[in-house]
Order: sequence, then structure tokens, then C-alpha cells
Amino acid sequence: MSSLNEYLKKSLNTIKKANWYRQEQTITSLSGSIIQIEGKNLINFASNDYLGLAGDSRLIEASLEATAQYGTGSTGSRLLSGHRDLHYQLESAIALLKQSQKALVFSSGYLANIGTISALVGKKDLILGDEYNHSSLKNGGKLSQAQTIDYKHCDLQDLVAKLSINRANHRHCLITTDSVFSMDGDLCPLPELIEIAHKFDCWLLLDEAHSTGVLGKNGAGCVEYFGLKTTDNLIQIGTLSKAVGSLGGYVTGGEALIDFLRNRCSTWIYTTALSPGDTASALMGTKIIQTESSRRQKLWSNINLLKKLFTQAKLNILPSESAILCLPVKNTSQALKISKKLSLNGFFAPAIRPPTVPTSRIRFSMMATHAQEDIENLMESYLIN
Ligand SMILES: *Cc1c(COP(=O)(O)O)cnc(C)c1O
Repeated sequence: MSSLNEYLKKSLNTIKKANWYRQEQTITSLSGSIIQIEGKNLINFASNDYLGLAGDSRLIEASLEATAQYGTGSTGSRLLSGHRDLHYQLESAIALLKQSQKALVFSSGYLANIGTISALVGKKDLILGDEYNHSSLKNGGKLSQAQTIDYKHCDLQDLVAKLSINRANHRHCLITTDSVFSMDGDLCPLPELIEIAHKFDCWLLLDEAHSTGVLGKNGAGCVEYFGLKTTDNLIQIGTLSKAVGSLGGYVTGGEALIDFLRNRCSTWIYTTALSPGDTASALMGTKIIQTESSRRQKLWSNINLLKKLFTQAKLNILPSESAILCLPVKNTSQALKISKKLSLNGFFAPAIRPPTVPTSRIRFSMMATHAQEDIENLMESYLIN
């Protein structure tokens, strides 16, 4: 008989020895560019709340109002007792923002990804995914039981080579990619991916988690950023928990895609509908993304300022076209040391280390609500030993 506890303790010890052990940090203030962690004020470079909406009074108000009107829980799945008109309003607002025919709201982006992939492809099919794809895309592939092959990060030659060998042996083929890669900040080559998908008769699934609200003139994301149009074979998935400032996920695309998912996607059918409060705040966040482009402009001027300061200090960050800026460091213990130094100086920027990524780095997430001094002081504090 093997003891569960013995096994778990041994595994945890291995994790600790590799400096991979992780723990929560408790935030005791409102979400924003300045937060309090365990009693200490820190300038926040660790948040996905790129536009500063998670602590915005309009979103808070919308959430409170919907909660007072409908209650805290949605009480059922969308097809049974969970649906409210708020869900339709949110889906219309997302479709409008994304310039797509239709949208479907999920309880999280993770569920949207695993559910959509496993509903669309199966045993006879093929998935080609970027090796740096988010965990939800990878696990969606596993759940689908399709043959899954990773191509080298943003390497179109490798993708084409693997399609040339494997495409003909399968019924359908789905190419999956993050649009902004979450642990690096770089952008997928979308125009070329669309071309390749067309040439090899593939569908393309784009994970817009870090692009929605951030990229494109109206915040529609990667498709708008490249000046492209949505097509029938393009499936866009995103989250409501990053720039939108709430919780939940979404899929956008053609009318048939959404109707199919409503009838076939188990992570939408068999889970409780998004709560009224989260739905209402996501609706408000989506509207603000569309109407207040000044927030996005401020975000980009902050991103460009930190990039400029890194360049001036002769520090090479990883290639980035997003609100995620990463500074590579030698190893895990160096990453932890720098993150700790920044924290002692009043800045929250996490060390991202294996196994999440192949090489250690400090990851800075920029926000529209950072003040110019916050960014200048961060750089000064980074440079002082
Ligand atoms: C955060 C994230 C998700 C998951 O979204 P949640 O709504 O937090 O579940 C999916 N894909 C990528 C690339 C992400 O960064």
C-alpha cells in the first residue's frame, strides 16, 4: 500500500528543492495600480487589470445593482434556470466590440477554451498548437482526443512542415494560438496564420486573453490590430477577467459556431451560468473599453515609457507588443532575489520561473492607471543594488 501523504510530502519536497514552490499573497485593498499586500503598499506591476477597471466605481455599482436585483448566484445552467437577460446583453456587447456575428459567455476563459476545442474536434482530427500556448489550450487538446502536435513558438516554417506531413491524414484540423503570449508578451503572426489555415484547410482558434481591450484602435484585439476582418474559419476566445475587469470567458464567431456550442459544448451546458454581479460588471467593462479609448492610449504610453527606460538602461527585455514586459534573468534564485528587492522598495513584480516557463524572468504588467512616476521609480529601484 502506498500512502497518499507520503507521496504528496515527497513531491512537495522536490518542488521546494527546485525553488518551484509557490504560495498565495493576500491583497487587503481595492484592486488597482497601488495595492496593499499584508499591510504594505506596493505599486502593482502584477495585475491583468490592464485598463484599471476592476476597481472602477461604475463596474462595482453595476455589480451591486445586479446582485440586489437578481441575487448572488445564477442558480442553474444557462439552458435551465441560470439565464438572465443580462447574459444576452453582455453577449451582444462582446459581439459588437469584437466585430463578430455572435458571442457566447462562459464562466471562465479556461472553460471557454477547453470546451470549445473539445466540442469542435475529436479522434479523427488534428490540432496544431504553438508550443507556448496557454495551459487551457493544451488541456482542451487533450480532452478533445484529437492528435495534437506542437509547432515551435511562432515558427511558421515549422507549422507548414508539420501540416504538410500530417494534414492529409485527418478529417478536420484546428490551429490554436495565443494572440499575445501570456508569459512573454509577444504577438502571434496572425496574418500569416490565417493564410496558412486557408491554404491547408484548417480552422484557426485565437486566444485573445491579453489582447482584448489592449490591442486595436477600439480595443477589439489582435484582428483589429492587424487591420484584418473576422472570417468563418476564425474562432476568437477571450476572458472577461483581464482588461474587462470582471470574471468569465467568451467565444465569438459566426452564428452557426455559437449555435453549435450552445448545443454541444459541455463546459457551457453543464456548468452554472455566470453570476448576475459578474455579468453586469463585465457588461459595463465591455462598454467602457469601446467608449473610453483614452484609457488604452494611457496604457500604451505607459508601456512605451517602460520600454524606453529599459532601452536607456541597456537592459534587453523579451520582444513584446503588449502590456506584458519581461526581463530575462539568469536563474530561478536570481529571479526570486530581484522580485524580493523590488518588493522591499515598494514594487510588486513577480518572478516567473519553471515549470511555468522554460527560463526565469521578471514579468511587468502595465496598467493605464500607473502614474509616470510609478514607472520611473520602478526603473530607479531596479537599477539600485
Ligand atoms: C488568463 C488566460 C486564460 C484563462 O482565462 P480565465 O478567464 O482566467 O480562466 C486563457 N488563456 C490565456 C492566454 C490566459 O492568459
